[in-house]
Amino acid sequence: MTAVTRRRCLSALLPTLLLRSRAWSASAAKPNILFVMIDTLRADHVGCYGYEKPTTPNLDRLAREGVRFADFHTAAPWTMPSVMTMFTSLHPTVHGATSTQRRASLKVTTLAERLKRLGYRRTAAITSNPTVNSRYGFAQGFDLYDDYTLFLAHELNLFGTEDVDQRRGITEAVTSHSVTQTATRWLEKEGRESPWFLFLLYFDPHDRYVPPAPWDRRFDPHPNAASRRRRDTGPHLLHPKATPQEVEHALALYDGEIGYTDHHIGALLKKLDALGHHDDTLVLLVSDHGEEFLDHGGVRHGRTLYDEQTRGVLMLRHPDTLPAGKVAPVPACHLDVTPTILDAIGVRSAAACQGTSLLPLVRSQGAAARPVFLEGATRPELRAVVHGRHKLIRDTLTGREELHDLDADASERTDLASQKPALCHRLGSHLDLHITACAAAAGAYQVGGVTPRPKLTPRDLKTLRALGYLQ
Ligand SMILES: [Zn+2]
Repeated sequence: MTAVTRRRCLSALLPTLLLRSRAWSASAAKPNILFVMIDTLRADHVGCYGYEKPTTPNLDRLAREGVRFADFHTAAPWTMPSVMTMFTSLHPTVHGATSTQRRASLKVTTLAERLKRLGYRRTAAITSNPTVNSRYGFAQGFDLYDDYTLFLAHELNLFGTEDVDQRRGITEAVTSHSVTQTATRWLEKEGRESPWFLFLLYFDPHDRYVPPAPWDRRFDPHPNAASRRRRDTGPHLLHPKATPQEVEHALALYDGEIGYTDHHIGALLKKLDALGHHDDTLVLLVSDHGEEFLDHGGVRHGRTLYDEQTRGVLMLRHPDTLPAGKVAPVPACHLDVTPTILDAIGVRSAAACQGTSLLPLVRSQGAAARPVFLEGATRPELRAVVHGRHKLIRDTLTGREELHDLDADASERTDLASQKPALCHRLGSHLDLHITACAAAAGAYQVGGVTPRPKLTPRDLKTLRALGYLQ
């Protein structure tokens, strides 16, 4: 696609405003589906997940109006495998989209493809993370897969954000208002064709942490301190010897990015109401992974399977079928997203899904003891299983295992592996079975075999380098 056609694509998303109101008819149409993903949102910085700062009033309201999953784990600590797992209900090593050099298996079926077959008249994605690129297989089933409008707008400085150095790349771009704006225009035009499926990816909490005013100071307890004059808030600032003040500053800016994103998601939900879609739309909000601020001596995400990187949020709202204000304690993960959405529209069992619908668990009382499996990203040798209150992390290259009690030691400081060998063995058996099953399934999907390498353009490569995913 040339720059000119991209510009046309952008202008095509500028229809006239059309307000409409439609009553939900339980007997007739399937609900619309609004699937919102927030990049790099760790659960413990979200109000309804217990954060003490008011970063997320709109997410908190959404949770009050629907169901919140309190024990949610991401498939991996990185965007690409996590999003493809949400789209396919397959573990990362099975779908195969596990690095910037690999696209998903050509045999996967995505959520958008399933919905298209089930009669969804309009399917669209508006993304702002270059790793969720159509060349990796993410666009399957979407009528519109807009993975470049926002980058184009960024390059043309359409955002008009003077406080951000436009030359530094997409990681500093401020895109949440543009995602909402582009989505609003799509809803005004294409939203007339119900049922529709819209996937939105909000990117701002991803490093670098450069929220626009007033969000840059809103959560900073010392906004005028000398250290705050330093504008460089990139990951190299948070080296292992960063001062507590530097970490505090980076966290304040990260919270600012979350607050800014929450604000624009609030605007989106308001627009959904104004267009008459409050009752006939299933809203799903999820994060792809968390973020580390020296919790275990590192920064950013991708390298470990500790909770700060793999504990995310999941909430669902659909007034017709889901209770309001319910907090579901059941363990949940990215694998469950597709089966849950399909269940919500009446498809009780979906073929080729490794996850399960969460809706029966929402309706029942109590939490099922169900193992949840995690996979490493930039360290693919890492695997983990969470079962009940315990997490076992294994380095499959060295065989080294760590055992953590997430209830007694939420920050995962104390390795109990040597103290509890029987428990280690039991969890390790779960993990062995899982790894064997995934290897067999990956063979069926021909991951690593005939799956072609993605065809990346110079622009793709430049953007991936800017994000630090390519050297
Ligand atoms: Zn991400």
